[in-house]
Amino acid sequence: MTALTLYNSLSRSLEAFAPLDPARGVRVYSCGPTVYNYAHLGNLRAYVFTDTLSRVLTWKAKENGWGALTHVINITDVGHLTSDADAGDDKMEAAAKAQAKSIWDIAAHYTAAFKQNIADLNIRQPTRWSVATDHIEEMIDFAKKIAPEHCYELDSGLYFDTSTVADYGRLAGAQDDVREGRIDPVAGKRHPQDFAIWRKSPPGEQRQMEWDSPWGMGAPGWHLECSVMSIKYLGAPFDIHTGGIDHREIHHPNEIAQNQAFCGCSDSGAHFWMHNNFLVDRGGKMSKSKGGFTTLQSLIDAGVHPLAYRLLCIQAHYRSELEFSAENLAAALTRLKRLVMTVANLKARANGEGSAPQTWLDRLDEAVSDDLNTPKALPILDELLADKRTSVEDRLAALARFDEVLGLNLLTIGRGDLRVRPANASITAEEIEARLTERKEARANKDFARSDAIRDELALAGVEVMDGDPLGWDWKPAL
Ligand code: AMP
Ligand code: ZN
Repeated sequence: MTALTLYNSLSRSLEAFAPLDPARGVRVYSCGPTVYNYAHLGNLRAYVFTDTLSRVLTWKAKENGWGALTHVINITDVGHLTSDADAGDDKMEAAAKAQAKSIWDIAAHYTAAFKQNIADLNIRQPTRWSVATDHIEEMIDFAKKIAPEHCYELDSGLYFDTSTVADYGRLAGAQDDVREGRIDPVAGKRHPQDFAIWRKSPPGEQRQMEWDSPWGMGAPGWHLECSVMSIKYLGAPFDIHTGGIDHREIHHPNEIAQNQAFCGCSDSGAHFWMHNNFLVDRGGKMSKSKGGFTTLQSLIDAGVHPLAYRLLCIQAHYRSELEFSAENLAAALTRLKRLVMTVANLKARANGEGSAPQTWLDRLDEAVSDDLNTPKALPILDELLADKRTSVEDRLAALARFDEVLGLNLLTIGRGDLRVRPANASITAEEIEARLTERKEARANKDFARSDAIRDELALAGVEVMDGDPLGWDWKPAL
């Protein structure tokens, strides 16, 4: 059994992790999606990371006798502006206007789509989804408490004075460099870094989402919800706060400032702050506001099983940038197929139940205890499955334990599941099989012109024929 080490963005170093209150269990808060659009694959990388964290913490809890993990993910359905600098439109209001729908419909639609993505990626449900608009009263109470000493009011709203807390921005990287380039568009702010706690509705404009408050009709600033909901459900300080690495620069420093103001102390509110790196494509960081992003559903529609994307994510360390490309995705799909075939062969040979050998569990434990090093754990899984000195039954029993952490569903998905038919394929799965049989006959009769013609026809229907595939796969979606 290896002690768990995690990278803490606060100290910019690896630290030994132990729960603040082992009996109560580890408490984790993850910044959730803003539901004004579909999550892109980059966003989903953030939740594959939090799921890996939650699975490893659950594994370590069993090993160490800690209480059950409490994991909260929020849903931001209000307040996130098109710019981090408190300027621009509310993203939710803008989406509602653009789609001529009510903001509540927009939120419901994209929340449901996000939860479907979570299920498709075999990401476990958090203990609680907390929705920002369910907590407006509590946000107002929080703001009332910190306002006298830490906030000032302008025509546009209530602002947090970042000079009133110790070490503002200590979490951010070279924060002065980051901020220097930012234009401060809000007139009257005392410091460019000051941020909105409450945004008043502009005079004469009625927003779809607005609430009454001591500072007038309006809506909370984006950072407020996470301080309020994390403290409400987890207490302060709690163990781990997560988010994408962009949150290390503005959103999390602002949460920390609010938490310090609320407790009247210098505590950041969480013991560890952890951040996943970006998913990038050749055009740079994937982002929702850039448009043209790739959704998980678009992969499924292209005939790629969503767990291939999960595998792509866990092949990389969460703190490394990960490049997304059709080639990388296709390679992950092939690796997943190989794993599924290997497991199918073992299952066919197994006779009764085995038990997971401790040496294999120790090796997995050592890999993931090293700051969730899943890229190190995957080759150990390959070795385990191929290890002839371990009985087939014991290998399968160990695999079940590995999959508690990796979440690839290797004991339940089969060959058939991986054959996701492309949504635009103009041909049914049965037709594909029939054409392939026909093609096999043509080849047996050395009618290569006919065989090539069938291959080209299938390619036009979005199906790529694989001749001599070592895994015995006859076709795959054309990416
Ligand atoms: P949002 O819905 O924009 O609030 O983002 C949800 C989560 O995705 C946050 O934790 C972001 O930091 C994270 N995120 C955004 N873009 C990327 C990306 N390209 N790669 C990885 N994580 C990202
Ligand atoms: Zn947050």
